[in-house]
Amino acid sequence: MSGPPPRVTTGDDGGSPPESVGSDAGDAAPPDPGRIDTDRRPFVLVWEVTQACDLACDHCRADAQPARHPDELTTAEGKQLLEDARSFGDGQLVVLSGGDPLVRPDLLELVEYGTERGLRMTLTPSGTASLTPETIAALADAGIRRLALSLDGASAAAHDDFRGESGSFEQTVAAARAARDAGIPVQINTTVCAATAGELPDLRDLVADLGAVLWSVFFLVPVGRGRVLDPVPPERADEILNWLSDVGEESRFGIKTTEAPQYRRVAIQRRRDASDAPEGDGIGRRLGITAGDGFAFVSHTGELYPSGFLPESAGSVRDGDLVGLYRNSDLFRSLRDPDGFRGKCGACEFRHVCGGSRSRAYAHTGDPLASDPLCPYVPEGYDGPMPAGRAD
Ligand code: SF4
Repeated sequence: MSGPPPRVTTGDDGGSPPESVGSDAGDAAPPDPGRIDTDRRPFVLVWEVTQACDLACDHCRADAQPARHPDELTTAEGKQLLEDARSFGDGQLVVLSGGDPLVRPDLLELVEYGTERGLRMTLTPSGTASLTPETIAALADAGIRRLALSLDGASAAAHDDFRGESGSFEQTVAAARAARDAGIPVQINTTVCAATAGELPDLRDLVADLGAVLWSVFFLVPVGRGRVLDPVPPERADEILNWLSDVGEESRFGIKTTEAPQYRRVAIQRRRDASDAPEGDGIGRRLGITAGDGFAFVSHTGELYPSGFLPESAGSVRDGDLVGLYRNSDLFRSLRDPDGFRGKCGACEFRHVCGGSRSRAYAHTGDPLASDPLCPYVPEGYDGPMPAGRAD
């Protein structure tokens, strides 16, 4: 392979990932994550507006509940959060996540409020019967810029089994088509784990058929209900990342990995293998986003986390200092300093472009600076400890 690297954005979508909306949405003037200073602002700010949801998905980060939490941010507090988000700079991307955001009766009001203030408002609803064409049209009128929908299987049987709800597949596919009809770009989110990896080729075809602008491929982090699922082993993860690179080169839609920044290491290795580029070519400042570095997550009760999969709080946005917490808290600053990472991630020559999933390191060890057990790569000459919780 030669030529430009595949289109790659790596981030988290709200608890990433389902959480996530990437850079090449096809919507108006999205900031380029490679051009923004992630020490100063997140490329993606996720607000988990509620944890309430009618589904009971196997992988749910949020351990979603049927009822809304009594201490959720109120409408007024949410509007203040959106005001504060404006301070990051023009066109801040805000992802309204859940739970199922549609559970909140003030959802349209919040979308309109953010849109009127120049925020780019996007949404990750659950695939339920409440996502009707009428609701989607109302979201379009309110200014929603993208709808991210989850598909974890390419058939009703596979997807509904994973999501724990009969009918979810049909409702999600119908919603994707309705969103396209309403002029809303669609993103498809997929969880990769042992139970879903075999679905990926058929899902790729489905993503293309639905006319999605982006496929966000989330590599399982064992938090919430996701603890009961088996991740793919590290070598299999690398195979999938290589396959996704091929798909990205062949497809009209973009590809974004979530909680797998190794995608950038794989892209660099592929370029090296396919060209005469000298060793070290292509390793520079990270182009994607990771927990706390270009990505931030506000929980349903207002705690600011580096990601939904790294539930360590930098403080409460209720105190009115969203921007200060992101820029100056010790937690967020440490996550933006790959030289402080531990184990083989800290010793790795790819740490400034990859750095590993901080969320997965945290899930396995309680230390967000530890090594990512999903990665099979061992830096040359490294003889230190291997990551705890290696999936193989
Ligand atoms: S060892 Fe860590 S920093 Fe290096 S490629 Fe793997 S995950 Fe990335």
